[in-house]
Amino acid sequence: MTSREFDGKFRYDGKDLGVKCKKEETVFKVWSPLAERVELRLYKEGAGGDVCRREEMKQQERGVWEQRFPENLHGMYYDYLVRIDGKDTRTADPYAAGCSCNGSRSMVVDLKQTNPEGFEADMAPLLEGEQIIYELHIKDFSYDKDSGVPEPYRGKYKAFTVMGTNGRYPTCMEYLKKLGITHVHLLPFFDYGSVDEAGDESQYNWGYDPVNFNVPEGSYATDAEDGTVRIRECKEMIQAFHKNGIRVIMDVVYNHTYREDSWLQRMVPGYYYRHHEDGSLSDGSACGNDIAAGRPMVDNYIADSVMYWAKEYHVDGFRFDLMGLLTVELMNRIRRELNAEFGEGEKLLYGEPWRADNSPMENGTKAALKENTSCLDNGIGIFSDDTRDAIKGHVFYEEEPGFVNGGTNLEALILHAVTGWRDGGASFRPKSCAQIVNYVSAHDNFTLWDKLVLSMHNGESDFSIRYDDVFAANKLAAFIYFTCQGNLFMQAGEEFGRTKYGEENSYCSKPELNMLRWSRTVEYGDLVDYYRGLIQVRKKLPGLCDKSRSAAARIGKKTIHGEKVVSFRVDNRDFDTSSGKWEELFVIYNASFDGYTVGLPEGTWEVLVDDEEADCCRKLPKGQEKILVKGQSGMLLGRCEG
Ligand code: CA
Repeated sequence: MTSREFDGKFRYDGKDLGVKCKKEETVFKVWSPLAERVELRLYKEGAGGDVCRREEMKQQERGVWEQRFPENLHGMYYDYLVRIDGKDTRTADPYAAGCSCNGSRSMVVDLKQTNPEGFEADMAPLLEGEQIIYELHIKDFSYDKDSGVPEPYRGKYKAFTVMGTNGRYPTCMEYLKKLGITHVHLLPFFDYGSVDEAGDESQYNWGYDPVNFNVPEGSYATDAEDGTVRIRECKEMIQAFHKNGIRVIMDVVYNHTYREDSWLQRMVPGYYYRHHEDGSLSDGSACGNDIAAGRPMVDNYIADSVMYWAKEYHVDGFRFDLMGLLTVELMNRIRRELNAEFGEGEKLLYGEPWRADNSPMENGTKAALKENTSCLDNGIGIFSDDTRDAIKGHVFYEEEPGFVNGGTNLEALILHAVTGWRDGGASFRPKSCAQIVNYVSAHDNFTLWDKLVLSMHNGESDFSIRYDDVFAANKLAAFIYFTCQGNLFMQAGEEFGRTKYGEENSYCSKPELNMLRWSRTVEYGDLVDYYRGLIQVRKKLPGLCDKSRSAAARIGKKTIHGEKVVSFRVDNRDFDTSSGKWEELFVIYNASFDGYTVGLPEGTWEVLVDDEEADCCRKLPKGQEKILVKGQSGMLLGRCEG
């Protein structure tokens, strides 16, 4: 059978795969078109114990197998025996909504029973004029004792529900609230395989190794044994964010699985993975396997999973890991489905527009790579490595500088970045700056602080020293991307000079190395204040927040004043309310070590950001013709009336 014939015969578009458990009925459905027989086995326990009930599944059309029970089986565990070519293989349910400790058995869940109090009424805060995304790992957030979170909640979903934590200075949720970010982006929190859920708290992994795509990870729950606890506590976490005015983005990894021997593989061998012509597994993820996005049932699986998290858990957006391994068609479909269900743009969608290696795509499909940005929906963003590298230098070559840390001939590139690469200057063509995610650091590679120390103090790097030049470069880097058009994204702790002491890839390092050190928010409090100011001021600037296709036209005269000194003007009128406080903005970046005096355009100007402070309001005398911009700093001015 060709793959076209196979899809024609077995493609199933029903939305009822998995288990639907209601008050008086429980329905099991799996898709396993190659099976000769499928047996369902029910257990009281998540591990061990005898099968307490076994039923042969009834074959339906299109490769679907079904079994119905006229009762509520909430809390029972289950798995399947799938017979293919006469051989029985045990598997859990790839569509499971719940699972046992370490996920080897699935769990029947009546989802209503897992809702924390008030969850039905839970609503995301209203979307603000700008998205400021804060990338965070659940364990990093509260592992530090100074977080003030009670010990049993440290490193867990529950940590997000605790307020008034430290008693000396704001930490955790109170800190985030005060910082002013609008979205938190959480590293993977669906069930992954690299941490033993029965093991101790010293284990650590970023979690890019999915096992059960539709179940929350158990090591972040206070009890990984009872499969309902992780579900309830994950919902409590999201509810807590919403209560505090922050939306939640989920980092999703649909491009590969922890092992090829996954539930998907056991249910339909060969179907869910890409292979080379010689039959070997494709490995464009550099994680051992690639999910075969582009095949109908793979795409259905991924799209249904996204919709499930959005509906059941109230997740507000998705960040796609190695999106370049998925297809333009699938990403656009997910965008359409989210828009149809929740309203246009209500859920954020963005991803990494790259992959670790080539991967054989399905015929006729297009990879969701940067070069294909113009084929992606305008509501799908890409991480802008161009902006990142122009500002601070290449991520893999630690000594290679960018604009803020000693790089040369980057003036023109930096000015392209300001428009979100809408004015050319890059190898790809975004439809609008809505497709651009500006950032200078994320969980991968060095922290911004470490990269700056390594590139500016090469050979004598000491990550615990507060170098003046590194501090200034950090501020300037932040100032630059906060004055670029597009979405804004930052790694947690970038605002307090987070260091991993030069560790470039901390995905399985100790939690002590990865965790947010809350005392540093005091030690580097002036840097935190500067970021907080940038966040506040950005929200007031329609000229920079504009995500429309014509936004780039707001960037007026761009000038390269000399080596490492550039400026540009911005039409800052608010076309919706015609109430922009400053009709025009004037922005200067000075990455040189010397002060630079720049001529001011006509009008009366107010300094909104300088080398010291962001979100200040310092009105200059009428008629002042020039201003000194200190070395290694940026300045933002707004033109005011009269
Ligand atoms: Ca797990």
